Amino acid sequence: MSPARFVSTGQSSPPVELTTALLEGLAPDGGLYMPEALSPLTSVGLSELKGGSLRETAERLIAPLFGRDAPAATHAAVIDALDFDVPLVQLSDRLFVLELFHGPTLAFKDVGARVMARLLGQAGSGGPIFVIAATSGDTGGAVAHAFARVSGTRVWILYPKKQVSERQERQFATVGGNVQAVAVRGTFDDCQRLAKGALGDRQFLDGAPLTSANSINVGRLLPQAIYYAHGWAQLPGGSEVVVSVPSGNFGNLTAGLMAKRCGVPIDRFVAATNANDVFGHYLRTGAVNPRESVRTLSSAMDVGNPSNLVRIHYLYDGDLGGLQRDVAHSAHGDADVRLAIRRVADELGYVLDPHTAVGLLALESELRERPDAVGIVLATAHPAKFADVVEPILGRAVDIPPRLAATLARSVEAVEIAPTLRQLRDTMQGG
Ligand SMILES: *Cc1c(COP(=O)(O)O)cnc(C)c1O
Repeated sequence: MSPARFVSTGQSSPPVELTTALLEGLAPDGGLYMPEALSPLTSVGLSELKGGSLRETAERLIAPLFGRDAPAATHAAVIDALDFDVPLVQLSDRLFVLELFHGPTLAFKDVGARVMARLLGQAGSGGPIFVIAATSGDTGGAVAHAFARVSGTRVWILYPKKQVSERQERQFATVGGNVQAVAVRGTFDDCQRLAKGALGDRQFLDGAPLTSANSINVGRLLPQAIYYAHGWAQLPGGSEVVVSVPSGNFGNLTAGLMAKRCGVPIDRFVAATNANDVFGHYLRTGAVNPRESVRTLSSAMDVGNPSNLVRIHYLYDGDLGGLQRDVAHSAHGDADVRLAIRRVADELGYVLDPHTAVGLLALESELRERPDAVGIVLATAHPAKFADVVEPILGRAVDIPPRLAATLARSVEAVEIAPTLRQLRDTMQGG
């Protein structure tokens, strides 16, 4: 059997193996990589998911996602990365929350970033793989912790000096070891320009492999399908199942649709968005109409031109009717988010972060139309991560989990550079 192949949504680059897709990030034709085939689980395979641990679920999903002949190293990378819980919490009769925030930086991005880090750690041919990530705040933490102590990788996190919050800086600039924070004297745009400039130059580090840990990498996407299966496996069973996904770049929803292709019996998805609701137009017309993003309380979903819509389009081969059967859309503004956080805390004793609150509102509206269904909302972040939003709404402090408290107690260690490629190269070669 030949190894699983990855194809570009642009459809004019040749298929590649996983390692190439990981190292390239973007395909040469500008498209995003997708698995060439997703092989569904058998009904026996499905029934065996029930009641299993996250790692047991992951073991069973690796073949459908990464190919039947995925090497032992791929299994090891995925299993090693998933060393935290993804519990399903019941809020009421028909309402469940899948908590994706028990990883090191309290957000679902830990799942994809940790698996990708370990896959990349194996991808080198002898020497280390160099990784750059530009961050305006949030992604840096997930990437820094994901790569911490992953041998075979050396990581530079570029961020605009004095333009991220202290809490954010402490999540990516206190890791040490193979992860170096670089405070750029400039803006986030300068950081992105430096990252792109370095990645676009094959000789930047004298030919050493250099890649980016951003969210379009297929290595971050695939592992996210695993927790959809794990969420379904923890449900009591028997009913129609709806899953609501708080969405920004739509990587998370894409992974859910891939889980469905692998046979996970989710009947319907709800794409939950804030005021940035490009998806509504797309779902009605099949056309993407990008807009300037607007700022909302659910800031990680403030995306005006979602990069993964090309993947969804590819997955459905342009069949809009099929997509509409599988996915609903529901958008909710900040005022409703504030009320929802308040109401759910008062009535159900559960504290939502602002992203999960958008998801919950979307789920409630879909469940009203489907009286026999049960619903899962993906909790994409822990409320302590967005304490500045949640605490004023509740009028009280939110408990900080010990792993976040420990990170916040460490001191920041960053090198500082002017926003030039030459200084970036000197830093990367010297350190
Ligand atoms: C990134 C993020 C999202 C959006 O996920 P996408 O995969 O980009 O749609 C939602 N919630 C939180 C907390 C996030 O960090």
